[in-house]
Amino acid sequence: MMLKGEKSGLPAIVGTMVAALLLLSGCQQTPKAGNIDEQRLLAADKDADNWLSYGRTYDEQRFSPLEQVNADNVGKLGLAWSVDLDTRRGQEATPIVVDGVMYISTAWSKVMAIDAATGKVLWQFDPKVIGAKGAHACCDVVNRGVAVWKGRVFVGTIDGRLIALDAATGKEAWSQVTVDQSKPYTITGAPRVVRDKVYIGNSGAELGVRGYISAYDTNTGKLVWRFYTVPGDPAKGPDNAASDKAFADFAGKTWNGNWWEMGGGGTVWDSIVYDAELNQLLIGVGNGAPWNHRARSAGKGDNLFLSSILALDPDTGAYKWHYQINPGETWDFTATQQITLATLNIDGKPRKVAMQAPKNGFFYVVDRTNGKLISAEAYAPQNWAYKIDIATGRPVERPEARYADKPYMIYPSGIGAHAWFPMTYSPKTGLVYIPSMHVPLTYSDDVNYERHPGRWNTGVSFLAPPEGAVPGKDPAERRANLAKQNYGALVAWDPVKQKPAWTKRQSWAWNGGLLSTAGNLLFQGDPYGFFHAYRADNGQELWKFQSERGIMAGPITYRVKGEQYVAVLGGYGGSMGMATESEWMRRPTPNGVMMAFKLGGTAKLTPLPAQVKPPFAASKDNFTPAQLAEGERWYFTYCSICHTGPVNPNLMRSALATDAQAWQAVVHGGALKDNGMISFAPYLSKQQVESVRGYVLSQASKAGAEGQK
Ligand code: CA
Repeated sequence: MMLKGEKSGLPAIVGTMVAALLLLSGCQQTPKAGNIDEQRLLAADKDADNWLSYGRTYDEQRFSPLEQVNADNVGKLGLAWSVDLDTRRGQEATPIVVDGVMYISTAWSKVMAIDAATGKVLWQFDPKVIGAKGAHACCDVVNRGVAVWKGRVFVGTIDGRLIALDAATGKEAWSQVTVDQSKPYTITGAPRVVRDKVYIGNSGAELGVRGYISAYDTNTGKLVWRFYTVPGDPAKGPDNAASDKAFADFAGKTWNGNWWEMGGGGTVWDSIVYDAELNQLLIGVGNGAPWNHRARSAGKGDNLFLSSILALDPDTGAYKWHYQINPGETWDFTATQQITLATLNIDGKPRKVAMQAPKNGFFYVVDRTNGKLISAEAYAPQNWAYKIDIATGRPVERPEARYADKPYMIYPSGIGAHAWFPMTYSPKTGLVYIPSMHVPLTYSDDVNYERHPGRWNTGVSFLAPPEGAVPGKDPAERRANLAKQNYGALVAWDPVKQKPAWTKRQSWAWNGGLLSTAGNLLFQGDPYGFFHAYRADNGQELWKFQSERGIMAGPITYRVKGEQYVAVLGGYGGSMGMATESEWMRRPTPNGVMMAFKLGGTAKLTPLPAQVKPPFAASKDNFTPAQLAEGERWYFTYCSICHTGPVNPNLMRSALATDAQAWQAVVHGGALKDNGMISFAPYLSKQQVESVRGYVLSQASKAGAEGQK
């Protein structure tokens, strides 16, 4: 800060000398790329120019003190630059900005360094993930970001590696395989760094893996500690890991049946937060594998540490405390969602809290000194619990929600009332802004549950809503009507009063990540391609930009040479991008793009080629009703999860479906495995593959006959 009159009071000669010295030091010391250390990360909140870690600060509030762009002038925001990406697979990363350089990860775990003021690409890194590995990604081959520390950039890859790159050149410094690559593990989450240790989790609980978090030495890449979130096969004894004691003391007893055979789940696929005040690492733990508690743990036991916030010692991985959100988890109710730290004034006392809006629809405020629940109220419509009992910390469940005797249409579902999409807490408004969703699903006990190694294993049958739950004369009509009732909401939540200050209902469900700024602004993308700015105090829309492709990722803001930028990755995908049909979106969706905006920006996006929707596949081939029924079964078992959204080809419009031989070559023979379309020979016979083709053609013909375009 400069005092008034300071400059004019200085003799001219002193000013010249200072300028000369600055110039000299500028010549001698080239600023080191990716220059982040402990002091810098601890003081990140005061470093308004930069976005040094995933959630901007260790507290992961995603609030920026910058206010050059504000509610009065945001209407003048325009594109400053853009970088076209190489794929239309989903883009979920939050960029890191260090001293004018932006580091991003993109789909297929690639990394890019970009001049944050001009958009010039400085270097690119491709870990060359084998395309077939994409079939293990439950929810697209996305990556949520990198970590930067002491001149290195760290990225987790979809095939389970953790890689350290030189921040100046993008050259690989070391690479470590962090998972058993024979199992369906993937990594989509951003690493975090504390004091020369880099932390990484993994994903794969939908397919069947055992979750854990690992700490690696940032210099050497050597494993320092590992904490498993669920117990292993008891016959094999302890793991020789940081988690052994907790499982021996109390957590192991909360499991039943042969859970280890499908891994048990509990992947740490998103939130990892360092609580500097209390020197602890808070991690969010995911759902069970399989989902169904009866199929996983004989329907008995809390199954620690599934669906929990877990506090660990960052240096040793030793257990400190846990808070379990859903004991006996059975719905894909993860507690992996963003954990945000703050000190809130509750009942007249400052309380150090961890806040989370997990999938299950309740907003949790937890005392982070001991893991005790302070308060929990529903931030989204929900029909699975009467309330959360504050004294015990446990939900009071509606018994029918466990779908034991009959199907239950539940909301939120495994899609979540909130998933990985970043939320933000503004200390200025005192509100947490949640990108929430309303996507009910009907769960039914899969009593004939068969394991399909390497594919989805939930133990749940997903049915059309039961009669009376939504309008419609038959299951197909009810399913279609249900999809039309999905929506999203931008919820401005008061974490002290545990109620919304305001809610903005949105017509889309798959709801983009959020950023709040001291300029009384909120930024958020949507699946229609718009990037919005809202007033943080009341939600009024002030500005929007059409990016031509869906935006899901968390936006950031930073400053270079005194000029403030707002940046976000565009690119639709993720689980709903793969699994849900949305006729209002471009089809197929265009490649992703990295965009930065500034006041008065006049840049233009690269024009996109005209999108032509391929016609419905048509063929004279005949199929028996038995073939069509079998095809329908396998289509919904294996195909619909990746081929319903705009990211992957719509099979009803695939020319391959008209050619039996070409269809076999791809589906059974694996001809397109390098794109992620693996061979289904381990799961389906050639006859079954042909039945799926029959079902696809019958649906294409039906859609055509109904006059769909
Ligand atoms: Ca899950």
